[in-house]
Amino acid sequence: MQRADLLAILKRTFGYGSFRPLQEEIITDTLAGRDVFALLPTGGGKSLCFQLPAIAGGGLTVVISPLIALMKDQVEGLQASGVAATFLNSTLSSEESKARFRGLYRGEYKLLYLAPERVMLSGFVERLPELGVRLIAVDEAHCISEWGHDFRPEYRQLASLRQTLPGVPFIALTATATLRVREDIVRLLELRDPRCYTASFNRPNLSYRILPKSKPTEQVIQWVKARPEETGIVYCQSRKSTEALAERLRAAGVSAQAYHAGLEPKQREKSQDNFLRDRTRVMCATVAFGMGVHKPNVRFVMHYDLPKNIESYYQETGRAGRDGLPGECVLLYSSADVIKQKAFIEEKSDPEEQRIAREQLQQMVHYAESGGCRRHMLLSYFGEHDFPVPCNGCDNCLEPKERFDGTVPAQKFLSCIFRLKQASRFCVGMNHIVEVLTGADTEKIKRWGHDQLSTYGIGKEHSRAEWQTIGRELIRLGFCSQSAERMSTLDISAEGMAWLKARSPLNLTRPTATTKSRPSRPTIEGDVVCDEFLFAQLRTLRRTIAEERNVPPYIIFPDVTLRHLAARQPSTEAEFAEIPGVGERKLRDFAAPFLELVVQWKKERGRA
Ligand code: ADP
Ligand code: ZN
Repeated sequence: MQRADLLAILKRTFGYGSFRPLQEEIITDTLAGRDVFALLPTGGGKSLCFQLPAIAGGGLTVVISPLIALMKDQVEGLQASGVAATFLNSTLSSEESKARFRGLYRGEYKLLYLAPERVMLSGFVERLPELGVRLIAVDEAHCISEWGHDFRPEYRQLASLRQTLPGVPFIALTATATLRVREDIVRLLELRDPRCYTASFNRPNLSYRILPKSKPTEQVIQWVKARPEETGIVYCQSRKSTEALAERLRAAGVSAQAYHAGLEPKQREKSQDNFLRDRTRVMCATVAFGMGVHKPNVRFVMHYDLPKNIESYYQETGRAGRDGLPGECVLLYSSADVIKQKAFIEEKSDPEEQRIAREQLQQMVHYAESGGCRRHMLLSYFGEHDFPVPCNGCDNCLEPKERFDGTVPAQKFLSCIFRLKQASRFCVGMNHIVEVLTGADTEKIKRWGHDQLSTYGIGKEHSRAEWQTIGRELIRLGFCSQSAERMSTLDISAEGMAWLKARSPLNLTRPTATTKSRPSRPTIEGDVVCDEFLFAQLRTLRRTIAEERNVPPYIIFPDVTLRHLAARQPSTEAEFAEIPGVGERKLRDFAAPFLELVVQWKKERGRA
């Protein structure tokens, strides 16, 4: 199939003018009958990679999808674009299943969505070869691996489709990157000489920011109230705090709900559904709120507590901005949280698990405290080291942290460690060092005679929190080493000793506790500047139509389409058809009410 033909289908069916990175290559290979493995970030447009071949290629495409809610959404989305799609799962009555089967035998559908357990039902597999299957798409393919975060044993059986449907190509898709998971997918799905595509994990439309955590609940309320039209997720560590925060937000007049694994399944489903349908603006959730979240217009993801590791942080923030419009990722950070996490880690019984957890926490602390580009740090974690900085989309690039001459404080800190070790012949932890520096009057200091040291009380010009930050930066710079056991102690490293002797000048980052945070908004890729009032009206109209049809609003049009509408303000159907996200079917179904609103709006403002 020619490039022009693919582009024509893309425009006609989905209303898009161009492909996202790697989509075209993946689609071309898939249509040529090759096995394909596609690793694209969240929001990278994975669905299109099998939907377009299904539309272009003839025959039936079977899509394996792990969640019933997701399946339903995707099928509704396709139907709204005029694509014949259906699903089979345990929620259907046997009448309904039979009717759908009859349609499948008559070749009425281009796509069939299935839960993996369905594939194994006896009587079902035997019928598959009669349905003219032309492609198998395995979505969320990481579910096949125990190393992934969402292992589903049923996925293991999928390879048997290779025997049932010999010669039918597979396409496996995921956003989960680790090498182990990747290998598992290729091996366990028995992919044959697959073409592997990996897109950059950069999310250009997301911005990253750390806010020093002081009064977190008020900080969240303030943030959310400053964005009255926007929807977002606030991740909290405990079930209790999700509920408390939702309560406080509601008291402040914000529609908010809690979501965690302790809720009744019915309640969870309702919470999620309200969020998907734009009835709830803010979801206060534990990490249990995850894979099912395909809501495209999540505009911010806040972390109320410190995430466990960089990978989870990337996955969780990744739920913002699937639609390509800007999304803000904010982490509320305090060193008190680090201490809390450390205490959790000490409670673990397995030393290996403890070691990994400590290492992961250290990486998270580094992410939060470093003055470097946050996007660069995230991408380096996934092995993309050459991302150019500044990125223009993180706080450190937009408002570089103040640096100060840290020569004297560093000397004080390191000499203090040195003197302590000399006097006591053992190393102590960060807290004790800071207490000696600031001249604290503690029982331990007296007992060990540390108030007699020359470094006792020489650091009163900084607060304890500031000294902690300075100390952590010295660890990051390699001037101190931190022991890995229970009560982690600090020692001067060889580099630290060398530096103390050489006494060359040293710049440090000014501790965040003393810098003002300016919550300015970054200008970030993906933004569509438009009339916000018209946009708000278009959203109201969309919601009405969505409620009538009983589908989530984004099934009608994504936010991007509404923003383009509010920017270009078309008056005719021909102009309307040019808007991204408007395919033939949606033009027919929805142009009239939206055009009427736009034209009326222009008339009222004398612009018609
Ligand atoms: P993923 O599954 O990779 O997270 P989706 O398939 O859900 O991503 O796609 C994310 C969003 O991007 C959807 O709203 C989809 O309609 C949109 N999209 C996909 N491909 C394109 C494209 N070529 N141009 C514009 N938007 C696209
Ligand atoms: Zn940056």
